[in-house]
Amino acid sequence: DRGSLAERVAAQTREVADFPFPGVRFQDLSGVYAQPRLVRDLAHALAGAYRGRFDHVLAVEARGFLLGMAVAQASAKPLTLCRKPGKLPGPLHTVSYDLEYGTDTLQIQRDRIPPDARVLVVDDVLATGGTLAAAEKLVTAGGGRVCGHGVVLEIAALAGRRRLYPSQVFAVHTVG
Ligand code: AMP
Repeated sequence: DRGSLAERVAAQTREVADFPFPGVRFQDLSGVYAQPRLVRDLAHALAGAYRGRFDHVLAVEARGFLLGMAVAQASAKPLTLCRKPGKLPGPLHTVSYDLEYGTDTLQIQRDRIPPDARVLVVDDVLATGGTLAAAEKLVTAGGGRVCGHGVVLEIAALAGRRRLYPSQVFAVHTVG
């Protein structure tokens, strides 16, 4: 467990050019998930960044599930899943949002998030912020409020943090 958490993430992250589309610098965190102590330490860091300020965790499909469950375990808070269409039985809240090419949709089950719950939203990578912004809308539609977002890796050049403002973002590691 040498080095800072950010350095440990950097050491286990592989940048892949032009995947899955030309022009995308894909951040492959597979090496992170292969290290149980690193996942545990990431979960504690994400939970610790918002200690005392959240009572619920929302995990975004699909890799956000891995971290969201770990954060829920580390903090002993309940977990709700934010999923792509066709996965969750209703009744549902649904939000569609624009991607660079086309649109995407996310859903949560109604009544999963207790009224006025303070929700920590967890995903692996913050890119443009469109996904976390949509997740935030679902939390609001569900009657909760977002205390902040937690990610392992932030791609600063895509300015997702600005898109999510004034909501807080905690990122363990940042690339340009
Ligand atoms: P965005 O909505 O643009 O912030 O994209 C965030 C979602 O897409 C996250 O769930 C990421 O897993 C995934 N994603 C977007 N861009 C990348 C990238 N360059 N490398 C890895 N994952 C990405």
